Amino acid sequence: MDLEELSREILTCVKCPLHRHRKNAVPGEGSMKLGIMIVGEAPGASEDEAGRPFVGAAGQLLTEALARLGVSRGDVYITNVVKCRPPNNRTPTREEVEACLPYLLRQIALLRPRRIIALGLVGARTLLSLMGKRVQKMGEVRGKCFRGRIAGVEAEVCTTYHPAAALRNPKLRDVFVGDLAALVGSGLERYF
Ligand code: URA
Ligand code: SF4
Repeated sequence: MDLEELSREILTCVKCPLHRHRKNAVPGEGSMKLGIMIVGEAPGASEDEAGRPFVGAAGQLLTEALARLGVSRGDVYITNVVKCRPPNNRTPTREEVEACLPYLLRQIALLRPRRIIALGLVGARTLLSLMGKRVQKMGEVRGKCFRGRIAGVEAEVCTTYHPAAALRNPKLRDVFVGDLAALVGSGLERYF
């Protein structure tokens, strides 16, 4: 199975109750040009409408923070832990994360990123738990990278704040932009 087939499977998935509320599932988009995967929490209203990840206000901040580094969205692969929008943008439940996680794992197995950047607590907790690391608070892990094996792939999982949190709090915004520069930028040095 290739990435396109996997995306098509996600579009028609009914494995958890979130399929009942969605307009569009959001598999993810981009490339492995830089070997980097960016993983958010779940689609919001704009993403559900468009069927594309991070295209609303939080997405705009992410897109701008990448552009500052000379990186376009298509240079990285952007997706979420959960592929369908939870009603009223509530946090996905543990059951929903468990139901959807196999898709993220299959994306990782197919794309083989060398670095996965988790945005926010849901992504950080989910990905780091696969490396046997428990995370209670974003502050414990933010800005850090952990090396391990996920879906048979040797990768680093790095974390920062979610851009939606950064939009609500100017202090977090500076940290978010700085972390992204360090986490994407330190990858770039090895490439060019
Ligand atoms: N927030 C997320 O976590 N993911 C998106 O795609 C958009 C907003
Ligand atoms: Fe399937 Fe994931 Fe959507 Fe649930 S959230 S219906 S598991 S694609």
